[in-house]
Amino acid sequence: MEKQKKVYVKPIITKQKTGFVGKFGKAGLHSVLEKIDGVDIEELVEKFGSPLFVISEKTIRATQRKALRIFKTRYPKVQFAWSYKTNYLNAVCLVFHEEGSWAEVVSEFEYDKAKLLGVPGNKIIYNGPHKSKSSLIKAINDEAFIHIDHFDELFSLIELTEEIKKTAKVAVRVNMDTGIYPKWDRFGLNYENGEAYEAIRRIMLSDKLNLVGLHCHIGTYILSTDAFKIAAYKLTDLYKRVKYEFNHQLDYIDIGGGIPSKNTLYSYYLDASVSIPSLEDYADAITSGIIEHGLKSDELPLLILESGRALIDEAGYLITTVVANKRLSNGKQAIIVDAGVNLLFTSFWYKHKISTTEFYGEVRDESVIYGNLCMNIDVLRDGVFLPPVPVGKQIIFHNVGAYNMTQWMQFINLRPNVVMIMEDGSVEVIRKAETLNTINELERIPEKLLKK
Ligand SMILES: *Cc1c(COP(=O)(O)O)cnc(C)c1O
Repeated sequence: MEKQKKVYVKPIITKQKTGFVGKFGKAGLHSVLEKIDGVDIEELVEKFGSPLFVISEKTIRATQRKALRIFKTRYPKVQFAWSYKTNYLNAVCLVFHEEGSWAEVVSEFEYDKAKLLGVPGNKIIYNGPHKSKSSLIKAINDEAFIHIDHFDELFSLIELTEEIKKTAKVAVRVNMDTGIYPKWDRFGLNYENGEAYEAIRRIMLSDKLNLVGLHCHIGTYILSTDAFKIAAYKLTDLYKRVKYEFNHQLDYIDIGGGIPSKNTLYSYYLDASVSIPSLEDYADAITSGIIEHGLKSDELPLLILESGRALIDEAGYLITTVVANKRLSNGKQAIIVDAGVNLLFTSFWYKHKISTTEFYGEVRDESVIYGNLCMNIDVLRDGVFLPPVPVGKQIIFHNVGAYNMTQWMQFINLRPNVVMIMEDGSVEVIRKAETLNTINELERIPEKLLKK
């Protein structure tokens, strides 16, 4: 019998929408959150206004302690240094310092901030591609750790230390191929082409520069634990060469930051809580990259970590209030809230977790949350399934502690209060809301314009 020919069916390509119901369940669902650390969200808004950034002291401490424990059980000598640019609100930095972290700064402004908070020079790591002459002099005098970014900085340090007749404690920032592309080779000196080693040689020739460590920061939100292992391996290799070729023992290797937080990137379908490696995985990779070299225990360098986002993101919330609901021409539900992307920069690349303070029913619709700026790009969250949230009610964005409170900008609206929920349950304003006066104070009107 002749086989029946199959009927041709035209293939169809359907666009996958983020947050749509898929084989992994209902991604993009929101949750109900009435309180943060026991404090009622609606009461917070009544007292401190909306929008409102909230930081949990408890979460910062718990996250930092957990991270320290994970590393210390895998390696004997560990030191964290808080990355100021990730969140340099004074209260936040102080909590990290109380937990034993040093300061990691990348500008004179950040350096001065750390000093003003009482961090001694020998607990400040000074990174970055541009360190002003005046700040380098301060850092030399304070015996801070100066991480050299390029040869011009090395030469000016040689000049400065001769000029002020003081020795500087320095480390070399090394960039390298860790299998992560594009490579971050714009910072530091290269490992593979010998540049980093040449810098080390020049430092060893100067009697005013004391080489104490090696540093790298391979990128940010690095999903490959292997990349960290390679970085730790290569830095330790340099450490060993310095030890055997110059008979000089360095104090530390600094692996930088770059470990992801629990935020999910827009390009990822699965939630970060199941799709990114755990902190334990990163710690395993980093410490085994060092340990594989087989150094004796008294030869091991101190391991410094400059984790930023992984330690603060989960401690931060942005509370917003719904100002309007509307339907777009394609039928999609749109919600307008009272905060814009000028406050929440990270909404450009993260699908922030969303909560409402009440349960508004089972019927949820794929929604887009717009900010209150008069700008088309002002989208805080797309592809989230939400019930209709009444005007005047709150929508909470989770995991916003990293970079938003430093990269935010005053644009169209003033920046709001930031409060910290203290461990004892009290609520403190840690940065006051701006007023018109905050902005006008910096402005000057030329006399000629006033006369008119
Ligand atoms: C920004 C930065 C960090 C922190 O990076 P994360 O990705 O937030 O962990 C650490 N070290 C240096 C040198 C940095 O520039």
